[in-house]
Amino acid sequence: MKKRQVITLAAELYDENQLAELDHAIDFATERHADQRRMSGEPYISHPLAVAHMLIEWGMDIDSVLAGVLHDTVEDTDVKLDEIENLFGHDVSFLVDGVTKVSKARAGMRDLDSYLPQTKDNLSKLLIAVSQDVRVIIIKLADRLHNLETLQYLPVDRQKKIARESLAVFAPMADRLGMGRVRMQLEELAFSYLDNGEFDHLKKLMKKRLGKSTRKLGAVRVEVEKELKNEKIKFEINGRVKSIYSLHKKLKKVNGNIDDIYDLMALRIIVDDNETCYRVLGILHGMYQPMIARIKDYIAVPKPNGYQSLHTTVITPNEQIVEFQIRTHEMHNYAERGLAASFHYHEQKSAKAYTRKKTAVHLPTELQWITQMQEVAGRLRDGEKISRSQLNVDLFGDRIFVFSPKGDIYNLPEGALPLDFSYLVHSDVGKHSYSFRVNGVIHPFDKPLQNGDVVEVTTRKISQPKSDWQELVTTTHARSKLRVQLRKLGVLQAVSSAAAIIRDKTIRKKKK
Ligand code: MN
Repeated sequence: MKKRQVITLAAELYDENQLAELDHAIDFATERHADQRRMSGEPYISHPLAVAHMLIEWGMDIDSVLAGVLHDTVEDTDVKLDEIENLFGHDVSFLVDGVTKVSKARAGMRDLDSYLPQTKDNLSKLLIAVSQDVRVIIIKLADRLHNLETLQYLPVDRQKKIARESLAVFAPMADRLGMGRVRMQLEELAFSYLDNGEFDHLKKLMKKRLGKSTRKLGAVRVEVEKELKNEKIKFEINGRVKSIYSLHKKLKKVNGNIDDIYDLMALRIIVDDNETCYRVLGILHGMYQPMIARIKDYIAVPKPNGYQSLHTTVITPNEQIVEFQIRTHEMHNYAERGLAASFHYHEQKSAKAYTRKKTAVHLPTELQWITQMQEVAGRLRDGEKISRSQLNVDLFGDRIFVFSPKGDIYNLPEGALPLDFSYLVHSDVGKHSYSFRVNGVIHPFDKPLQNGDVVEVTTRKISQPKSDWQELVTTTHARSKLRVQLRKLGVLQAVSSAAAIIRDKTIRKKKK
């Protein structure tokens, strides 16, 4: 990727000042990465440029694109965050910092295989939470996608590790943000490296199958087009082929028999509004026999990531099984681009007529952050200034995430104090806590930790738990470990009667 290609693409979307900034950022990053090369032998700058190029293609705002150009400068060169802030403003430096933090958090997940599936899901949530601003994740996804695209230059063991991590953490993250196309690109690339034999085998198998059914499907398509025209419906229709990775996953469910997979190829019908979606569904069911169990109304009940469509599978008179997906243009755009679509920058001027109707998206409560983010993004697009806290992705409500200096992640309740952290690391670390540094600065025992803090504990053998530490812990875990230690040290009497418990409480109250 060359600077010229990025600038040319950007010229269509951003105004003059923004382009000047982009030009400046590219020169700055080029100079700082000057002595570095990618494994491919290309100058290092080709990577951040490729990331920026993707972000522009996805229609992201200029701050995200600038951060994409600069995303590796703080981690991989001697550039300091202050410098970025001075040159490119607070918002850009906030995003670059977020990307650097997510990389650190990722480094903390050393052995992915030791995580259970449900924990892996939490990891993707967690990275989203840690990044604080959802744009950080979108930049990170572009970063990962380009790394996968250039994976051939890495040694095989690194290829496998990166591929595995992409499937376990990054693809689910893209999915969570509704970015269907990026999710698919990540999955296809990663899977082709992780299990190349299986990938090639399935690709051949798919090709053979599709060859057989494409002509038959073509006939169905012609029939449907004719009927929809008769009904005076405005529509687009196209075929979508299942991705190799989703075929692989599905085959595992049906014990490897490709004949049991009905949606190798589906027909997708795109119309103007919700009502028409249901009309089309009715027309199809009038023409063919639907398989009742396979009718899905993701318009009334969207998938957790906001995906909407009607799905139905029908049997034609000559016993062909065909899946249809029916959706509006807006739903289609969201299905492909997800949250990134909300940041879409260039539609702002060109299409004021394109009024975003309030599609009745009723997400389950735990996922309403997507709607909230979309609303905020919409206001951003309209040029409104939005405070940082409104971009904050609050997935965990009252939980915070902090890091050890090595990048390990710890989850604590909001308001947790440094000693809660020590006891979470290990009861011996808790026991011998001597002092704390948070983000490199000395931190008192009674000051709560914040989301994203890097917490460093200094332990000394001579340091022992004291009775007043009971006021300096907030979690049940830390409190119970501490009490055991205090009892062993004879600071606390073993409590064996209700009277003693009450007495103990009264003493503590008096002290306050
Ligand atoms: Mn990078």
